[in-house]
Amino acid sequence: MKLNNIINKLTISASQAYENAYAPYSGFNVGAAILDENDNIHNGCNVENAAYPSGSCAEEQAIGNMIVNSGKIIKHILVIGKSDELITPCGACRQRIREFCDASTLIHICHIEKGLQRSFHLDELLAYSFGPENL
Ligand SMILES: [Zn+2]
Repeated sequence: MKLNNIINKLTISASQAYENAYAPYSGFNVGAAILDENDNIHNGCNVENAAYPSGSCAEEQAIGNMIVNSGKIIKHILVIGKSDELITPCGACRQRIREFCDASTLIHICHIEKGLQRSFHLDELLAYSFGPENL
């Protein structure tokens, strides 16, 4: 699949997740979508909680959906939201992505209205990271 096609498909999936996000406290919806090694797509949205630390991130939900559906490797992950700043994954989600990525994995950051803003490799976001091969 060509990169533009991948980004288009992931944008559609992540946008659907974005629309369904549960973010009554922050009003800050986030959607994410993963393309796994079998070309299957898994999405997720942020799910807030009245007990704030019990909330979860869109990337976290998308990774959970990938695992439930037998995906093993994140080939691409796209995160979408609405902010003047890039909506890059939080520190915990960078580590979560690290667990299931490889050197070619791309992390795409999108604005819900403006589209793709920037793509990263994980080592740009999480240098000298700790992963499964470190154990
Ligand atoms: Zn996160």
